[in-house]
Formats: sequence, structure tokens, C-alpha cells
Amino acid sequence: ETAKVKHNYQSDVARLRKIVINSLYSHQEIFLRELISNANDALEKLRLVSLTDKSVWDGSNPLNITIKAVKDEDGKGGRLIISDTGIGMSPEELTNNLGTLAKSGTSDFLAKAEGGDTTATGNLIGAFGLGFYSSFLVADRVEVASIPPRSEKNPQPVQHVFSSSADDSTFDVYPDPRGNTLGRGTEITLFLKPDASEYLEEATLSALVNKHSAFSSSFPIYLFERWTEEVPDESEVPVPTDTETTSAAEASSTPTSEDVDVDEAIVEDITKEEEKIIEPPAPKMINVTKEQWTRLNSQPPLWARDPKNITEDEYNLFYTSFFKDFDKPLAWQHFSGDASSGTAFKALLFFPSKLGEDFWQKPLEYRAKDIKLMVKRVFITSDLGDNSLPQWASWVKVVIDAEDLPLNVSRETLQSNRFMKQLRAMIIKRMIQLFTKIMEGDDEKKADKLQEVFGSVIKLGAVEDQRNREKLASLARFTTNQRNNTSFDKYLENRKKGQKQIFYLAEIGKKPEDLAQSIFIEKLHARGYEVFLLTEPLDEILIGHLREWKGIPFQDVAKAGLKFGDEDLDPEEEKEEKKELEEKFQPLVSYLKERIGDTVRDVVLSERLVKSPCAIVADAGGYTANVAKMMAAANA
Ligand code: ADP
Ligand code: MG
Repeated sequence: ETAKVKHNYQSDVARLRKIVINSLYSHQEIFLRELISNANDALEKLRLVSLTDKSVWDGSNPLNITIKAVKDEDGKGGRLIISDTGIGMSPEELTNNLGTLAKSGTSDFLAKAEGGDTTATGNLIGAFGLGFYSSFLVADRVEVASIPPRSEKNPQPVQHVFSSSADDSTFDVYPDPRGNTLGRGTEITLFLKPDASEYLEEATLSALVNKHSAFSSSFPIYLFERWTEEVPDESEVPVPTDTETTSAAEASSTPTSEDVDVDEAIVEDITKEEEKIIEPPAPKMINVTKEQWTRLNSQPPLWARDPKNITEDEYNLFYTSFFKDFDKPLAWQHFSGDASSGTAFKALLFFPSKLGEDFWQKPLEYRAKDIKLMVKRVFITSDLGDNSLPQWASWVKVVIDAEDLPLNVSRETLQSNRFMKQLRAMIIKRMIQLFTKIMEGDDEKKADKLQEVFGSVIKLGAVEDQRNREKLASLARFTTNQRNNTSFDKYLENRKKGQKQIFYLAEIGKKPEDLAQSIFIEKLHARGYEVFLLTEPLDEILIGHLREWKGIPFQDVAKAGLKFGDEDLDPEEEKEEKKELEEKFQPLVSYLKERIGDTVRDVVLSERLVKSPCAIVADAGGYTANVAKMMAAANA
């Protein structure tokens, strides 16, 4: 027996495994999605490495994922074996990748999860990449056999096994006593718990892959299937199944098909072109057990299909599995085109149904991570480098598949590629289009939800993105003294005759209802003017950037400079009236100036008050109390 090296799990891993096992029990089935996603990552890595180091993979040995259930003799329990021909892991990598947590954010996750926040646990499992440990949701014991590819740098890799039980605080890593059975890649064997034996059923597995993973892997996923069939006695040739399935080798010719050793041979056969076989006449029929690798994800990926033939359900499922979100998307756009660089592409853009929890907490760190750039269905990068999306747009989820980017380029040159430059502008354009479509559409609920989730993001965009400021600002909605959800355009339509200013009152943190009671709008309200009631920090900043809308200036009603402009009042008459009042109150004004002249800049007769006797207002050019507060905080 080969030497086993016993390792202790890093303490965080032990905690984490416990949380995953306990809190995700109701999501047990996700283990398969997680393992397939890892296999997919490993295959992508291999392909990427081989772009610069041909010795790693010359393109011959196929890249794929296989799933095989092996029932125990007694028919009760069994093993589930998930293999890939990807990048594999050295013994050190087995130890480090599966036994320690090197990821940032894990302690945040642990804190949240231990605080009992199970929905967060569900959502975060993808984000934090806790994928592998989900194996223990269904398995008592997990064995991972793995071997990196033979290459110039590593000419003699040795297949190793990582082995651990669900309740162990340790794991073993040792050379695989079977030798090199994989050739290259990773084979994960799950010794299923008694209550997880449903995952030995091919129908269950096939349904699960279709549900969670069918569109998300660009590599073929094969399921080992076994069934009884009546066949002609003499026939030794495989019976071709459905021509749609790009299957596969007929495994019944290998007598010890339960033995994992044979899988390699089968896997290698998989990509052979299907042959058209003319079935011989079959006089004598017998029952035999048939075995076959069936391709599960034979459909082209969703983005490559015609939108006309895609159901809403398919979009939802694609989104949740591809972007690892438990919630359905709020909206999406499926489009194709030619970038002006000449690159043809197909793309799917999704709005999630909520923003990441840390979106407003860590604004500067927030960087788009869900822009998946593919070339001919092969994942290339999520990193747009210098062309990365601005913060306000960074939450969008996009998969974009280009037809003809030169594949043989390093990531650095890819980032300076013209197409990458256009990508950013294109995504932003589409986002604004989708916002607009929803805001102008018939689905009021959806529009409300959009404002609820992305209202502030739209305002941030209008502040951040000078080029798209107009468009984004026109999508912004505000509460006024008269109604909710008012846009700047709607406000102007509702303008009173002769009104030459757009009125607003801003107080951050207050409720619009409270602002509506403010003395500053008493008279405006009484005269039927609409006043924006701004309660978000971004509101006032946005208006500061805009200054005017369609040529009409904004006017803070708490500042000097307010003009009513009612046409029903004769300007001459109004002047007269004002003069009279000024004379009448002259003694009071002088008295007040004398008493409080050191504290305030000026004391003037007000035209804006109806019920309240007096108000303290900011100077027209000065800061309102809010901005002054914010400036003080910023300088502190
Ligand atoms: P994540 O996939 O988010 O990194 P996981 O827990 O799913 O987190 O996997 C941990 C790490 O283990 C991966 O980052 C990868 O390095 C390694 N790994 C897991 N499965 C495989 C596999 N099939 N082939 C190669 N490496 C793997
Ligand atoms: Mg993973």
C-alpha cells in the first residue's frame, strides 16, 4: 500500500463544510452543478494553457465531462463518478485546492452563514466558490483522483488521490494505487449517503444536468446509461441511437464496465464521428443489457439559438445555472450583431433581480465579474481590463460569443483588441435600451421592480457617465408633492403656465412625506406647483450635475432665487403688491436685521410662505444644509 499523507483541514474549511452540509440541505441537488462547473473550469483552463504551451494539449485527446453511476451489488447504495479530461491537480494542488480556503471573502461568508442567514448561504455559495464541499451534501466519502497533463515542464506526472469522509477533520492524499488510469484530468467518486441513492438513477441525473448545466458547459457532458433491450443475437455492432445525440462508444463490448479503468478508453472514443450503420437482418432476438455514453448537452448553447424558439423558462434556467443565482433574472435581452470591428457575435444580457449585497458598501471595489467573453463557444475571459464597466453598470450579467477573434492571443493583447473596446460601449447601450424598454413597457409591476432595485443605480449612472447622462437621467424617477414615479419629462409636461423653473427640495435621509410638509413648499403646493422631494444623496448630486432639464433650470426651493411665474398674476400688480408689503414690514425687517444680523446673511420679505411665519433659507449660490453636512463629512 502506498504511503498516505494525512492532512488536517484548515480550520475554516472544517467550519465551512459543516455549514454547507447543514444549511444547504434543501439544495442538496446543487452538488452536481458545482462538480460539473469545476470540471468545466478545469477543461477551460487546459484549453487556455494549451494556447501558449502546446505540449500540454495538442488538440487530439478530447475535452469532455462524464458522469457514471455505479450501483452496489445489493442494489441499495452506490457510487457516482464524475470525470473530466481537464487540467487536473498535482498532489500539492489536491491538498491546497480541496483542503484549504485561499479565497478572500470567506470569513465574511462564514460570519453570515453562522449568523443563520441561509438565503445568503444559498446565494453566496456560487459567489464564494464553495462548490467542491457541496459533495458532502450527498456523499459520506469523497475520493478525488487527479493527474495534471504531461507536458514539457512536467513530463512524469503521477496520479494522486484525495480522500475524505464527511465527518472527518482530516483528509488523505496519496499516489493512486491503481496507477495512472485517467491519462489526464480528474475523477471524483462520491460514495453516496443512503438517503441520496436517487442520484444513482440515470433519469434523475439526466434531468439535473438539463436543469442546471445543459447550457453552461461548452464541453460535451456524457452520461453512462444502461438498459435492457431486445436485440438480434448475432449483432455485435453498436446500435446507433438518436442521430441528434453526438454519442458515442458502445460500452457493452467492455466486459468489466463497472471498473473505472475502462472509462478512459470509452472517453477517448466519444468524439469519433458517428458512423451510419446499416442494420443487418435480425432473425433471432434476445434480451441484452445495453450500455452507452449519451451526450446530455447536445443542444447548441442558448445564446446561439434563435430567440423565437426559446421559452421564458429556458432563459430563466440558463440564467440561474450559468450565473449561479438562485433567483430568476428581472429582465434580459438576447441580441446578435456585427461590431464595427467586423466581429460577428451573439449575446445574452441579464438584469439580476437584485444587486449584490456589497454593491453600495464597497463601491470602489465593485468590478464586473459576470461579463463572460467566449469565442466560438469557448470561454476566454471575464476580464475586460481597461475596458471594464463603470461601477453603475458593473452588476450586469452578460455572455457574449464572438465568431472570429484571433484565439491565439494572450489575454493582454485581447484586452487592447478593438472588439473589447467596443464591447463596453455596446453593453452599456444595451443596458440603457433594456431599462428604457421596461420603463416604457406595459408591465407596470416590472417597471416598479426595476426602479426599486436599480433606481439608485440609474441615478449613479447619470452622475458617473457623462456621455449617457441625458438618457439615464430621463429614466430616473422621483417622488413629488403631487405623485410618485415622476420623471423630469413628466414634470415638464405638468408644468404650470409661465413656470420657468423646476422646483425641488432636498433633504437626505428624510421621507418624501415629511418633505411634503416643509414650509419651503407651502406656497408652491397651495398654488398647484409640482416640487421634487429628494431624499437620496445621489438626487441632489445629479441635479447639481444637470443644472437644467430641456433648458429649464432647477431651483432649490430652500434657496433664494425662486420665481413663481404665474401668468394669472399681473406682473405690474405683483410689483405693486410687493412694494406695499415691503413698506409695511420695513420696521420688522430692520428690527430683525439688528437683532440677528450677525447670524444670518440677510433678512428679506418672503413670497413663499403661506402658514409659517418665517423660514431660514440658504443663499442662492451657497450650499443647502444637506450639502454642507455632506461636505463636512467628506472633509472630516
Ligand atoms: P471554485 O470552483 O470556486 O474555485 P471549488 O470549491 O468548486 O471552488 O473548487 C476549489 C478548487 O479546486 C478549484 O478552484 C480548482 O482549483 C480545484 N478543482 C476542483 N475541481 C477540479 C477539477 N475537476 N479539476 C481541476 N481542479 C479542480
Ligand atoms: Mg467551483
